[in-house]
Amino acid sequence: MHSPAFLPDLLDYSQSCMPEYTKQLLEMVSIPSVSAGTEHHADLKKMAEYARDLLAKYGFTAKVVPTKGSPAIVGLMEVDPKAPWITVYNHMDVQPAKEPQWKTSPFEPLLKEGIVIGRGSTDDKGPALSIVHAIHYLKSRNIPMPNVQVIYETEEEIGSPNFGAFLDDNKGWLKDPESILISDTIFEGEHPAITYKLKGMQRVELELVSGSKDLHSGIFGGAVENPLSILISVLAKMVNEKGDILIPEIAAANSSLNPEEEKALSEVASIFDLDKFTKDSGEAKRYAEDIREILMRIWHKPTLEIHGFSGAQHEIGVLKSAISPSVRAKVSLRLIPGLEPKAIVSAIQSFVKSIHPGIEVHDLGGQKASFTPLSDPFLKEASVACTVGFGRPPLFTGCGGTIGAIPQFQRVWPQRAVVLIAQSLMSDGYHAPNEQFELIQGQRGIVALATYLNRVSGMFRA
Ligand SMILES: [Zn+2]
Repeated sequence: MHSPAFLPDLLDYSQSCMPEYTKQLLEMVSIPSVSAGTEHHADLKKMAEYARDLLAKYGFTAKVVPTKGSPAIVGLMEVDPKAPWITVYNHMDVQPAKEPQWKTSPFEPLLKEGIVIGRGSTDDKGPALSIVHAIHYLKSRNIPMPNVQVIYETEEEIGSPNFGAFLDDNKGWLKDPESILISDTIFEGEHPAITYKLKGMQRVELELVSGSKDLHSGIFGGAVENPLSILISVLAKMVNEKGDILIPEIAAANSSLNPEEEKALSEVASIFDLDKFTKDSGEAKRYAEDIREILMRIWHKPTLEIHGFSGAQHEIGVLKSAISPSVRAKVSLRLIPGLEPKAIVSAIQSFVKSIHPGIEVHDLGGQKASFTPLSDPFLKEASVACTVGFGRPPLFTGCGGTIGAIPQFQRVWPQRAVVLIAQSLMSDGYHAPNEQFELIQGQRGIVALATYLNRVSGMFRA
C-alpha cells in the first residue's frame, strides 16, 4: 500500500482533533438550516456565517456570497500560486425533520457512544467538517497540497435551484479547478465507496383537456373522450408492467458498461445485501431478482415513474359516474449519461402526440447525469486514499439519485473529474428520522481526505 510518510502523524492528528471536531459538529447540527420552505431563512443565514467563520479560523479567505435564494459560502486557500486548484463542495442545508419517529430533538444534537444524532449530522455537516480538518492538517504541517476552493451551498436539499446562476455570476473571481471533490454519498455496506456515475432527472406533467365540465357517463359516455382513460392508455405505452421504458429514443439509450465498469459492478454485486435491500424497501415486489440486474436498473439504465394524477377521483368506495373534462399525470425520469433533459422532453412530446395530438407535455425541470470515467487519474488517487483512510479498498458505485450542483459544475467547468468520496454509512439514515454520524467515520475521513489531497498535489509535480 502507498501510505504517506506522514501517516503516523496524521493518525495522531485525526484522533487529537476529535474533541474540537465534535464540539464544532454539535454546534453545526444545532443550527436548523432547513432549506425547504421559508421558515428557516434566518437559520440558513446563521449557518452560512458559522461556516464562513469556521473556514476563516483555519486560514481560508472566506465570505458569504448572496444568491437569489439562500447564500453560498466560498473559502479560498492558496498555498502556492503555481499549485493547481481543487474545488471542494459540500452543502450546509438540511432536510426538514418533522417525522414523528424522532427519538431526540433533531436540532438539539445528542452525543452518544461516539455517535452524533441530529438532522444534518451525516448529510452533510460531518463529512464537510472532515475535509476542513484534513486541509488544516496538511496546511499546518506544510505538507504538499493543492490550492483549495471550498464552496458550500445552502439549497442542495431543494435541488440547487440557484447554484448554476451562482457559478455564472461569480465565475470571474472563482478559481477554475482541476477537479471537484465532494463528500456527500454513502458507503456500500461495510465498504468505502467512490461514486463515479450519478443519474440525471427530468420531471414532466402530461395534460389532456377534452371538455369544459364533468359529464354524466350514461348520457355522454361512449360518445365523448374520457381524458383519464386516454392518458392511462398513453402512459401504458410509455412504460410496461416490467418497468421497461417503451419510448424508442429513451429505450435505445446505451446503458452498456465498459470492462472496468463491469468489474466494478460485479464487485458490488458480490457483497450486495439483498435481504437488507428487501427490508429497506419495505418488502416491495421487484421487477428483477438478479442482484446485477437490480444494480443495473438503479444505476445504469434510465427509469420512468408515474407518480400521480389530478382530475381523478380518489375517495375509496365512492364512485361518481362522471367523466372528468381534464386530467394531468405526474411523471419523472431518471436519466443516464447521454440522455439530455431537453431532448427527453421533446421525445416524450412527439411520442404522446403521435398517439393523441391533444396531450400537452409540461417541462417541470431537469438535470443532466454526471459521469467520471473509472480510468480517470483523480479516481485512482481517491482509491488509494480510501484504502489508507478506511483500511480497505473502495468499491466504485453508481447512484440513482442526483446532486444538483454537479451538472452545474460540469457545465461551467467541463471535463473536470468529479470525485465523490463517501464517509456516511447506510445506517446513518440520510433524510430519515434519527439521522446520525459516527465520529470514527469522520476521523477516518480526515485521514482519507488528507491523503487524497496530498496525492493530488503529487499528480502535478513533474
Ligand atoms: Zn446531502
